[in-house]
Amino acid sequence: MKADIVIVGAGMVGSLLAAALKDRHLDILLIDTAPVTPPAADAPYEPRVSAISRASENMFRHVGAWKKVTAVRYSPYTRMEVREEEGRAELVFSAADIGESHLGCLVENRLMQWALTETALENPQVRLLAPARVVGLERYASHWQVQLDSGEIIEAGLVVGADGAQSAVRRLAPLSMEVWGYHQKAMVCTVRTSRPHEATARQIFLKTGPLAFLPLPDPHLCSIVWSATHERADQVMQMDDETFCRELGTAFGDALGVVEWTDRRFAFPLIARHTERYTLPGLALIGDAAHNIHPLAGQGVNLGFLDAAVLAEEIGRGLDRRLPPGHESVLGRYSRRRRGHNALIMHSMTGLERVYAAHWPWLIQLRNDGVGVVNRVLPLKAFFERQALGLEGDLPALAQACPDIPDFHRASA
Ligand SMILES: Cc1cc2nc3c(=O)[nH]c(=O)nc-3n(C[C@H](O)[C@H](O)[C@H](O)COP(=O)(O)OP(=O)(O)OC[C@H]3O[C@@H](n4cnc5c(N)ncnc54)[C@H](O)[C@@H]3O)c2cc1C
Repeated sequence: MKADIVIVGAGMVGSLLAAALKDRHLDILLIDTAPVTPPAADAPYEPRVSAISRASENMFRHVGAWKKVTAVRYSPYTRMEVREEEGRAELVFSAADIGESHLGCLVENRLMQWALTETALENPQVRLLAPARVVGLERYASHWQVQLDSGEIIEAGLVVGADGAQSAVRRLAPLSMEVWGYHQKAMVCTVRTSRPHEATARQIFLKTGPLAFLPLPDPHLCSIVWSATHERADQVMQMDDETFCRELGTAFGDALGVVEWTDRRFAFPLIARHTERYTLPGLALIGDAAHNIHPLAGQGVNLGFLDAAVLAEEIGRGLDRRLPPGHESVLGRYSRRRRGHNALIMHSMTGLERVYAAHWPWLIQLRNDGVGVVNRVLPLKAFFERQALGLEGDLPALAQACPDIPDFHRASA
């Protein structure tokens, strides 16, 4: 079999790339180890939910996948509250302060993946091969050979590794990476609280790690992400549901009343990884295959979506100049636009995590003073609020607002 582009991994990021390229007259093969299944609007909430920025929402709208998300369910949030266990100050971001309708949206990962894959497959030149596992890669002068677990071989001018944190493409290429541990696990689940969340995303920095309550479409349901040291996480994961709800309520405080119920819990070890290069001739990595970041600022998939949008933009720009998708200048431009930006965000998140992990009294005071200043100095606060939308910096066209698209969500003010 042959394709212009093989995208390994039809997760959220790989399928956005396929959807973004769907009008470019390219033969694209999306490969995934698992079939992509449609979510049901009345199913229980998935444990894996992501806070997506307004820039990511714009990408869904541009490619035509947003209506598939909204037809099922999503939860826009209009406020963000961040505080710390040891401090008095609270940082409050509000969409209304900057004339926006909302700061971002909570959407289940599986729903985003399905909406994007379905959108990509609207073009008959995009095919999905699943379940199929990539087990081998071989480089030739003008193409790569991709080997599947079935023994089938596929030839492609460009191979994109969008196969997540344990990327086989990264290992087989091979591309080396920098790894540093957060020495934490993230626990995730859906919980019900006695008070409504009022479309507010809340985060508290505990001594053992950050804890976020992210609002779901039901006003009394939140998706939580609780990052803690391995010892603490193992202890919490072993608790029965009643003890867990009590412990969670004690850790979080009473902003949402009592934690009344929890769904099944899952835990993930948190490891930061960044590949030293994003590309080889005819090969590129995007999303978690290239970088893994602490979930404390909800940035991981938003960075991955930007990778996909920039790579699609550079491939399009190359095609306009009659360059093939895997041309070195196309991949070089992609890598230059994304690696530095991702490194900056990753190191900022690691720095933030370390600043909040330390408990020296002078540092606690400094953190509180800093938060107080940001809250009081309105232009500074508006700057951070705009950063939270993800609409600053080198944005690909797909991430920008486009009022010409019907149903494009504009600021309410
Ligand atoms: C607890 C937690 C909370 C998070 N919260 C947020 C948040 O609020 N906001 C945010 O932006 N990010 C968040 N993230 C990060 C986000 O989940 C990831 O960045 C995102 O899932 C990465 O998407 P991806 O498509 O790159 O990879 P994945 O979602 O891992 O998809 C990879 C795909 O590749 C397939 N695959 C793997 N190996 C092969 C192979 N050999 N052959 C073929 N296919 C293969 C897999 O089946 C999968 O479908 C969070 C992460 C964690 C751990």
